Amino acid sequence: MEKVIIIGTGCAGWAAAIYTARANLTPLVLAGDQPGGQLTTTTDVENYPGFPEGVMGPDLMMKMQEQASKFGARVEYKMVTRVEKTGEHFEVHCGDNVLESETVIIATGAAPRHLGLEGEKELVGHGLTSCATCDGAFYRDVPVAVIGGGDSACEEATFLTRFASKVYLIHRRDELRASKIMAERALANEKIEPVWDTAVTEYLTDDAGEVCAVTTKNLKDESEGKIELKCVFVAIGHIPNSGFLDGLVDTDENGYIIQQAGSTRTNVEGLFAAGDVADHVYRQAITAAGDGCRAALEAERYIAERE
Ligand code: NAP
Repeated sequence: MEKVIIIGTGCAGWAAAIYTARANLTPLVLAGDQPGGQLTTTTDVENYPGFPEGVMGPDLMMKMQEQASKFGARVEYKMVTRVEKTGEHFEVHCGDNVLESETVIIATGAAPRHLGLEGEKELVGHGLTSCATCDGAFYRDVPVAVIGGGDSACEEATFLTRFASKVYLIHRRDELRASKIMAERALANEKIEPVWDTAVTEYLTDDAGEVCAVTTKNLKDESEGKIELKCVFVAIGHIPNSGFLDGLVDTDENGYIIQQAGSTRTNVEGLFAAGDVADHVYRQAITAAGDGCRAALEAERYIAERE
């Protein structure tokens, strides 16, 4: 019987592992099919405190793993398919392999939704990204585009006007889904040019393999176009990686795990949720790491109280 199983190896998972390992709980960390989480798909991370020169996303994740391992965290590269609560403990299923634990910390993150265009995944980090806070500052005085019409798209577009010379806001309809205040703020910004009723049909790259333009199609009159730019920010939503829990824990209508007010506890005793799988608002490396710390402290307290 494990004391703590941590599912996920992004910032939240490794922070939880560092804290529970230092508390002598020798956590077992299960890394799924994307060890290191979303930061492994970015290049320079400039906003993680402690790295004035910036740090490469994959390097940061390796350092976190090293730090957790140093204190006794164990990692297994297993994909969790199901979690069940049986009496007072949890069964964590990895295919046919079943692990048992007193507590489970879910830190499986979220995956940015993509358009599904050919070669899209390979362009991430090469002029295609889903995080303006992470990458916006790399695109100063050049045109960029945001795809989407929700709060994220409006927020990202408005944020990007601090850097970019122009921000095309490409939306598939002629009306934004975003809340009124965010939509109005975005549309009032003279650097933002909305491109209505339009779908991006292809990403074009330069000789260095960086995105340099997109081709578009107007969905009403079917006319085709091309927009030259230096970066595309895809903001068409995220998908929290909570599906494998299959109804075990309460989630909101989009699948984000609901944390009990002011904590990382869920409606299931002994089950904690940390990071992007429970956070559709901040979605930052530092907030995920903070959440991982909180989940670790709460799991530690839960175990101590039961003993
Ligand atoms: P969202 O509200 O689901 O909006 C997604 C947008 O992407 C929609 O405009 C949608 O178009 C478009 N879209 C979806 N699939 C597409 C596709 N395949 N091709 C082209 N466009 C596509 O997602 P979100 O903006 O990430 O927001 C998620 C949640 O977080 C919301 O509840 C939001 O309020 C919240 N949020 C809040 C804040 C804040 O308060 N500061 C900031 C960000 C997010 P349609 O409109 O046509 O469906």
